[in-house]
Amino acid sequence: MLHHIAIVGSGPSGLFCADALLRQRPDLKIDVFDRLPTPYGLIRCGVAPDHQGTKAVTRQFDRLFGGGSLRFIGNVTVGTDLPLARVAEHYDAIVLALGAHADRPLGIPGENLPGRYGSMAFVGWYNGHPDFHALDPLLDRSGVAVIGMGNVAVDIVRVLGKTPAEMATSDICSHAAAKISGAPLTDLYMIGRRGPVEASFTSAELAELGRLDRVRPVVNRTDLPDAIPSGLDPADARVKEKNLQILHEFASRSDDKPVRLHFLFHTVPEAVLGNGRVEGLKLKGQDAPLTVGTVISAIGYRTATIGDLPPADERGVIANTDGLVAPGLYVVGWAKRGPSGTIPTNRTEAKSVADRILADFADDTAPAKSGNAALDAWLRQQGLVAIDWAGWKRIEAAEIAAARQGSPREKLILWEDLRRIGATP
Ligand code: NAP
Repeated sequence: MLHHIAIVGSGPSGLFCADALLRQRPDLKIDVFDRLPTPYGLIRCGVAPDHQGTKAVTRQFDRLFGGGSLRFIGNVTVGTDLPLARVAEHYDAIVLALGAHADRPLGIPGENLPGRYGSMAFVGWYNGHPDFHALDPLLDRSGVAVIGMGNVAVDIVRVLGKTPAEMATSDICSHAAAKISGAPLTDLYMIGRRGPVEASFTSAELAELGRLDRVRPVVNRTDLPDAIPSGLDPADARVKEKNLQILHEFASRSDDKPVRLHFLFHTVPEAVLGNGRVEGLKLKGQDAPLTVGTVISAIGYRTATIGDLPPADERGVIANTDGLVAPGLYVVGWAKRGPSGTIPTNRTEAKSVADRILADFADDTAPAKSGNAALDAWLRQQGLVAIDWAGWKRIEAAEIAAARQGSPREKLILWEDLRRIGATP
């Protein structure tokens, strides 16, 4: 009998799955575990701090947690602190909603030089992820290269390019805002190994780069075809066509602004150069390297294997059939399909996995497992300090109280602060 469900990961895929389950079975008791003391995963630490509209989906999740059937158990890493095998003893079904939390390596010489960062670390730094608060990236030269032409690369160049006034209503961490506004930036480079049609950014995100106060997009007209090739999937074709239109408009601009954002297509990075730190980026087929002091790779994420959780493949995917990993064990989100799609993609997909769980258990007659009570006792025995919803609300209140004017919050960035405030009523 299906009664207690554990969801591992409180990002959008896990919480959309909880929502879909509870809409159909309000009697279920669902516990959502997270390694961080704070909920929302990618929405809090991945979505750009100036895209507050995208983050508003958390209000829907807040209502869910307020409903009495969903618990938050933060600061507990399933797989290591709490082995999956133990979770399986207490819950009838488990859903892995792990996201993708590791940077993919570039695999070129020099990538370990100070000044080269992966997007997970760099975005985590400005977004208040406690693992990355101390990154203190080198941003002391006029040139910064961002490798990749996806929406994460777009987020990064936009956050670097915006003025403090443009970031005023964001929740970028103050330490990052100060460092970025003090950086002597004049040239940002977005580097795509393929052409403008193959770039994976979407049109609204691309267009935003043309509306920044101090940034002028620089696109070489000769890099742009007049039309997209035939035979593309219609939905994809619409995005590519719009992208091309926007890029043509960028190429026609001749205004001058203090920061130039160069779109370099068909450009393959060969080596990060520098003596003790990043000083340049060697590009395939070009003699003169780009003069940059920082290189950020935004080339996609993968799902690292944690403790006794099932391993992920090269793309970060845990082997599954339509979300089923093994009897009673399911996967949703990026760990199910790889790091692609937008937040609403997870809503649809999580609903289909929720439907599958309910169908799989429709005829199940085994007695329901014990769920949270027995597990809570075990966590206490291990000395693990779980942070519950009330603990998160204390963290949130402290962040709102510390917000600078115009900003929704000043995130707590230290593990010890998050744990102390989260664990102390
Ligand atoms: P992505 O869309 O897969 O883009 C990765 C980029 O890195 C591609 O341009 C890819 O080029 C390039 N790349 C991969 N390996 C490379 C290598 N070894 N050397 C050079 N370039 C390399 O991934 P993402 O930007 O991390 O985004 C992840 C997902 O989150 C996407 O679905 C994205 O749309 C979504 N997202 C959405 C928003 C939004 O809606 N505002 C914001 C952020 C992220 P190739 O195409 O040649 O492989």
